[in-house]
Amino acid sequence: MKIENLLRENIKTIKAYSSARDEYKDASSDMVFIDANENPFKTNVNRYPDPQQTDVKQRLAEVKGVSTTQILLGNGSDEVLDLIVRAFCEPNNDNVITLPPTYGMYKVLAVLNAVDIISVELDNDFEPKVDEILAVQNGNSKLLFLCSPNNPTANSFNSKKIEQLIRKFNGIVVVDEAYIDFSSQESWLGRLNEFSNLVVTQTLSKAYGLAGIRLGICYASEFIISVLNKIKPPYNVNQLTQYKALERLSEINEVEDQIALILKERDLLITELNSISFIKTIYPSDANFVLAKVDDADLRYKQLIDNGIVVRNRTKQPLCKNCLRFTIGTQEENKKLIRTLNQLS
Ligand SMILES: *Cc1c(COP(=O)(O)O)cnc(C)c1O
Repeated sequence: MKIENLLRENIKTIKAYSSARDEYKDASSDMVFIDANENPFKTNVNRYPDPQQTDVKQRLAEVKGVSTTQILLGNGSDEVLDLIVRAFCEPNNDNVITLPPTYGMYKVLAVLNAVDIISVELDNDFEPKVDEILAVQNGNSKLLFLCSPNNPTANSFNSKKIEQLIRKFNGIVVVDEAYIDFSSQESWLGRLNEFSNLVVTQTLSKAYGLAGIRLGICYASEFIISVLNKIKPPYNVNQLTQYKALERLSEINEVEDQIALILKERDLLITELNSISFIKTIYPSDANFVLAKVDDADLRYKQLIDNGIVVRNRTKQPLCKNCLRFTIGTQEENKKLIRTLNQLS
């Protein structure tokens, strides 16, 4: 597959905007910087941020075992996903394939960019229907979004099915690994070099505990990354975010300890949820949340709110009738949830 042929026509030839900091890169050098109309007095952030986020990428490359040229950073995964849609999908012409129930942003981004959506529901085990997906793709299907572990169902997709889809889909396969750090499955990052049409997205918003700084990560071939680099806003990741991300990426042990605690709490919570009479099904989780089917999701949602607990009501999603999604909280929060559920009738 020639990836270049999948790009939008205008993107094939687009030139990146060249910012002041692109033209003279070494901002740390001992030069007089009067090229960007900044205020010269120091505030710690009086200078524009590094448009290529070199230090953060360097650290991520070490941690994840990829090259810095295979990384693009964005203002959350949401920006990264938007850039991918804009690079490959011609408005009013192309389409993307999503597998509901899944993360809502794929649809939002498609609609925003005037791109059609082909939905192929997951099967009853919340796995992709591979044959059906491959049968509905057409010449204008540019992207296939696979969210694994999937939100809101919490399962990881069977890796053989993912591999079949990467091999046989005629466009780009985006594997959204927002929850990979909680998963017992291997990341697809390790296989990036095998597949030119594979894009993997991750985020610091979940396991890394930095939802507030908005840092999303895209891993792909050097070619795809170079295209996304050309179309991203020049200063899309602010300097405070870069500082904070770098700091957190040097505390990997603490992140790992928190992940272990959350997983332990998840298993405890599942055990406790099993004894609640109005909980009908608890779906297996490979993430930091649990999807459960209750007798009446709207009622239970409201009762929990009245008791000071906010969960996510997913009852309107396909295959999720009467399902609530519980994020794993602290030990204290989880105990309060169980206590409250036990008191409801
Ligand atoms: C939370 C989440 C993200 C993270 O988005 P950010 O913009 O990086 O915070 C991405 N994908 C899925 C499926 C998610 O649930």
